[in-house]
Amino acid sequence: MNLTITSSLLGNLHCSRCGIVHDPCGRKTLSTCCQAPLLCQYVLDVGSVLLSDLQARPKSMWRYEELLPVIQPQNQVSLGEGYTPILTLNRLASRYNLNHITLKDEGLNPTGSFKARGLCMAISKAKENGERACIIPTAGNAGVAMAAYCARAGLEAVVVMPRHTPDAFKEECIGYGAQLIEVDGLINDCVAKVQEINQYDAYFDVSTLKEPYRLEGKKTMGFEIAEQLNWQLPDVIMYPTGGGTGLIGIWKAFHEMKALGWLPGNVALPRMVAVQAEQCAPIVASWQGEQVNSKQYVGRPTVANGLAVPRPIGEPLILNTLLESSGTAISVSEDDMLEGVSELCRHEGVFVAPEGGAIWAATKKLLRLGWLRPDDHILLLNTGSGQKYLDNIKGKWERSL
Ligand SMILES: *Cc1c(COP(=O)(O)O)cnc(C)c1O
Repeated sequence: MNLTITSSLLGNLHCSRCGIVHDPCGRKTLSTCCQAPLLCQYVLDVGSVLLSDLQARPKSMWRYEELLPVIQPQNQVSLGEGYTPILTLNRLASRYNLNHITLKDEGLNPTGSFKARGLCMAISKAKENGERACIIPTAGNAGVAMAAYCARAGLEAVVVMPRHTPDAFKEECIGYGAQLIEVDGLINDCVAKVQEINQYDAYFDVSTLKEPYRLEGKKTMGFEIAEQLNWQLPDVIMYPTGGGTGLIGIWKAFHEMKALGWLPGNVALPRMVAVQAEQCAPIVASWQGEQVNSKQYVGRPTVANGLAVPRPIGEPLILNTLLESSGTAISVSEDDMLEGVSELCRHEGVFVAPEGGAIWAATKKLLRLGWLRPDDHILLLNTGSGQKYLDNIKGKWERSL
């Protein structure tokens, strides 16, 4: 076969704990040295990819293909993910006397959330590696996205989801032809179920950060934020944090853009804020020193399904991002989240997921605390559309006003 090679600058993978370099070929899971996430490392120099090269590229996350791990273009399994708009929230800004508040609307991705970016990349690499079947533990959106991209790639899909997840998530997985397995509990219980089903490694397990490529898909949000804002970065990025993959990924993208010369070496990077639900706030507890780490943390369900991740494997990388960026971690109540959804709907016409409501609620809280200033450029990263969450919010969100 005559294969075309993309211009991917992927060099190798390295262990996020000890830095040892690993070969990027074949099926990859946690690092064999430390059982920690593996990170993709590219061979980047000022000028390796010129900004002028981007101009003619498709308006999807694949416009950054040199900085992505897929080697052969025919393995790019695409549904048009990425390049979502950044909206200026003028009406909320004037209601709250803010100078500059924007929202990147990831709800417009295929399958209605930013999980499309990560799963698009993971399934593209699964295809490239000759995998036939994939399995995922999920709080909802990741399972839907994996099922869609597996359908598009012709791979078998098994999705393991908490039983309390709204029906819309389950039905959509079934619609894409995935096998759906429901589990009593949260995503950590789904992880245990996946390990039981997959003890002989028949399936490729695409749990977040247990393979290196979902992170690479999600990091494209960082490239887009810079490019779409004409290389003027926001002061603060509000990010609803579950597994933290997007937060870590955006931060990785900023560093890659510095290495490429897309951003000046001395540019001030945004402060990164991890927003969680009070019902399940392991990162907030660790950040505030209430626990050494989340290994024993017990979480409860929240209307923001994507935030119900009690023991995120990427915790050290999340905390490191908060520290390096002078950011913080904060949690909000269920009522505040739903009020946040209502306000973004009513005043800006954006039907955000409860995770998106959470970041607006957290913004107001940090403004009251003085941590955010009214003249900061605050970017809300709305991770999903509210449409699949109707079971969770029905009858509650109007009362929240
Ligand atoms: C998964 C999910 C999150 C959490 O994302 P991480 O990158 O894992 O922290 C936030 N919002 C929505 C809508 C999600 O589906």
